[in-house]
Amino acid sequence: MPSYEFICRECGAPYEARLSMSAYASGEGRRCPACGSANVERHFTEVSVLTSSRGGSGGGSSSCGGGSGFT
Ligand SMILES: [Zn+2]
Repeated sequence: MPSYEFICRECGAPYEARLSMSAYASGEGRRCPACGSANVERHFTEVSVLTSSRGGSGGGSSSCGGGSGFT
């Protein structure tokens, strides 16, 4: 289950929520745990981007299995 980071627009509290794709799409679980507001903004963090500066185009392990496992 992917985790998403949000920032509440009401109180400004950042938080992380693990949501299924369907829950995320429907907006469930996106409420701020601090104030309960649903007025939250998705916060994108730079993860695993430009972490490896090894010049290897085309190589790498594609172990990122997409979408399987969501019920
Ligand atoms: Zn809040």
